[in-house]
This record gives sequence, structure tokens and C-alpha cells, in this order.
Amino acid sequence: MEQAEPKTGLPIYRNAFDWDALMREYPLPDVFAETVYRWPAQRVRELQNARFLRIVEVGWRNAFYRRRWHAVGLEPGDIHSLEDIVKLPPYTSDDVKESLEHDPPYGDYHGLDPSMAARMPLKLQTSGGTTGTPRATLFDPAAWEVQALTGARALYIQGARPGDVMQIPMTCSLANAPWLAYKACHDFLGILPLTTGSGIVTSTRQQLETAFRYRTNLWQSFPEYLVRLAQACTDELGRDVRDLKTRFVRTYLGPDVDGSLRRELEDRWGCPVYDAYGTNEIAAAAFECRERSGLHFMEDTVFMEVVDVDTGKPVAPGERGNLVATVFFRTLPPVIRYNLRDLGRVLSAERCGCGSHFRRMDHFLGRSDAMVKLRGVNVYPMACLPAIKSDPRTTGEWICVVERVQAGGVPRDEMEVHAEVRRDAATREGLKEGLERRLKDDMGVAVTVRLVDEGALEALANTGGREGKARRLLDRRPAYHRGSSR
Ligand SMILES: [Zn+2]
Repeated sequence: MEQAEPKTGLPIYRNAFDWDALMREYPLPDVFAETVYRWPAQRVRELQNARFLRIVEVGWRNAFYRRRWHAVGLEPGDIHSLEDIVKLPPYTSDDVKESLEHDPPYGDYHGLDPSMAARMPLKLQTSGGTTGTPRATLFDPAAWEVQALTGARALYIQGARPGDVMQIPMTCSLANAPWLAYKACHDFLGILPLTTGSGIVTSTRQQLETAFRYRTNLWQSFPEYLVRLAQACTDELGRDVRDLKTRFVRTYLGPDVDGSLRRELEDRWGCPVYDAYGTNEIAAAAFECRERSGLHFMEDTVFMEVVDVDTGKPVAPGERGNLVATVFFRTLPPVIRYNLRDLGRVLSAERCGCGSHFRRMDHFLGRSDAMVKLRGVNVYPMACLPAIKSDPRTTGEWICVVERVQAGGVPRDEMEVHAEVRRDAATREGLKEGLERRLKDDMGVAVTVRLVDEGALEALANTGGREGKARRLLDRRPAYHRGSSR
């Protein structure tokens, strides 16, 4: 008798899930662009409804959700359709952190049976930690593939094609974005990814030399670094970055309320710039198509809601509120009504010029937990941006410092906006007063401005082209006085 070949007992990645079934459920970029992406709104909604009911079943098997849902009197079977989603209590990163700290390192939030880790390949990613302890999120193989696929679909719709070369000057670390970009190009699009890492790994000059050598025609990076690359191209290589003939740049414009950041990047690079929004929990949840008129939600992988910051109730269409996400492709951990505390609003549910009915949201409008109540007025540090940019003598960098002061024996909160002034500004005359006037107009409450030298905020506000988001709020009040919007 012939001896049977020995079979592996190892948890091999390619055996971990049914690839074909997964790709039928979440179509590949070119198939997606011709099918689900163009479906009528009603058909998309029906798909979301079915996926939502399935993920609620997963939620009931998870201790974290079961505990929270029982606490509001829900029982399995109480949720009948997507209309009922409002009955499920949203949670925030604070709840996740509590779960992780209570039962480290993954908490009951992950629903991880300890033996599972030895039976299945897992990947750990964390949030950037700009707002405290990094949030850990595990990826099972199917989730790891779908999250990369979301990025690949966005790139395809933006016009990326096999044979392109994408440079990714971001470090593949516990941060998710560069992994997503790498996998999207490599695994799903036939695009050559150049994973050069951040400017610390590969100097800015080497980044540019690499780009010219290998004919990079697509980029994904943070806006601050893209500005620096363009400038260094002129200063250090004596060339125009436009000589690269970049087709497009993918980045995170953040709260670019007046579009000035996009204009600057498009002008320097000579190509379209596409905005993106996502986190490691929700993947590439929203992206711009070539129309650049709002970010389409990736409707078949995530259901996004906008809820009132104070009441948590869904807001009317077009109103600003917190983004709440329910992810369809994740089970470890499930993500069901995650209140991201990122401000957003739905711009349109109408058919876009690109042919899709996928709803579009405005660019990211800032963090709601960075909101400060000043004399009864809700103030968002991000709302300072148009004022700061309104005077060309500033560098465009600022940070809001909030302190509790005693005014005639009565405590009150005061905000001082530190604004950087360009080294080459001929005079500072009228600058402080002008900014204060504009800030009062924009925010509805008076704040003082302190002018600081160019570069003075680099460490404090995390500016200067380093990785991670810039910080716009420094809260110096005693902890118990802080806003209760969390
Ligand atoms: Zn579109």
C-alpha cells in the first residue's frame, strides 16, 4: 500500500478561509466597480440589511456586546432589520480600552478563545495612540484580506491599474494604513508597491531618487510629508516633483474645510489628490471617486451612521454629528455601532457623477472629544483652520490651549490659540487682532491669540511632517472639569 503524504498540522494562512466564497461576497476591484458599486440604493440597502442581521448574531455570541445589549433590555431576536440598529447601544474607544484593561491584552471585546490564536494566523494592529493608550485590533485572515480589498477598490475606482508603481513612504508597523496600501497594490491590483517607510527609514532625498528610478506614478502618504517631498525635490534634487508625472496621490486630508490643503498639494504635484477616511477597525470606510465631491462610504463592508454628539440619536440628513460604524466583515472583534467620535455629515445619498449610489460624506470634520465648551458655546479646535489660513503670514499651524482661570472668584474656561508666524513675515502688525476677529466670527466666542515663531509648535502639536496626526488641543484643565461629550 502506498504511504500517504504527511499532512501539515500548522495553521497555514491560505487554508484559513474559502477565498472564492469571500471574493464572491466582497467582489474584487474591477468586478465591484461594475456591480455592487453601481447598484441602485435600494438593492444596496437590502444587502446591508442581510449583513447587519448576520453580524448581530455574531454580537450575541460575544461577551462584550451581550453584556451591553442585555443592559438595555435587549434579547436575541429583538433586532429584525437595519431599522432597529438604533436600539443597539453605541460604544466608544473608552469602552474598548476598559475591556482591554479589565482582561488584558484583548479583553472580552475581542471574543478570543485563547486556543484560537494557536489555530489561526492572526495580525495585530493598533491605533496611532494620538489620544492615549493605543487600541488593539486583531485581524483574522478573512478580515485582513477584506480590509486590504477596500483599499484596492478605492484605488481602482480612482484609476489605478496593473503595471502602476505606488510609493508608500509610511512605515509598516502596528499602524495599519501602510499595510493596507501595500496589500491593496500587491495582492489585488498588480501594482508594484514601493514600501520605502517614513522619512526616518528612507531619507526624503532617497525617497525621491527611488521614485525617479522606479518610475513611481502613484503615492500614498500624509499631507505634511507630501508637501515636504515636493519642496525637497526642488531644494535637494533641483527638479520639479511634477517631472514624476504622478497620476494621483492618495492621502488623508483631514479637516481641510476650505480645500486649501488639497489645492496646495494638487498644485505642487500637478495631479489629483484623493482623500480617504478610515481606522484600523473599519478599514478604508470612505474614499473619493474621481468626481471629488465627497467621500463614498464603502457600503457593502460597513454601515455608517451620523448621530448627535450629545443625545446619540441619528441626526437629520446633512447635519453634522458623530460617525458610528457597523462593520460587516469582522467577527474578531465584531464592530457593531462603534461611535468613532469623529465628526462627519452625509453630503448626499443621490447618484454621483461616477455612477454610484453609495452615500457620500463630507471630509472628516474633527474629533468631537476635542470639543470644548466655552461660556456655553461648543468650540472645535479644528474650526480654527480657516482663520489661521486666512493670513499668509502664518505657517498654517496652530494649537488651542485650554485653561481654567479664576475671574473675580468665578472659575471659567479660557482658550488661547497659539499660531505660528512665518520666519519671512515682514511684519506682525495687526496679525493677532485680525486672527482674533476672524476666530470670533467663525466660532461665536472670543478667544485670544498668541503668536509664536515658526517651528515652535513642532513638538507640542506634532507637526513638521512626522507620522501621525497633528494635535490641535492641549487641555490643561483639571481632569474633572473637562467636557462630558465622551
Ligand atoms: Zn462618485
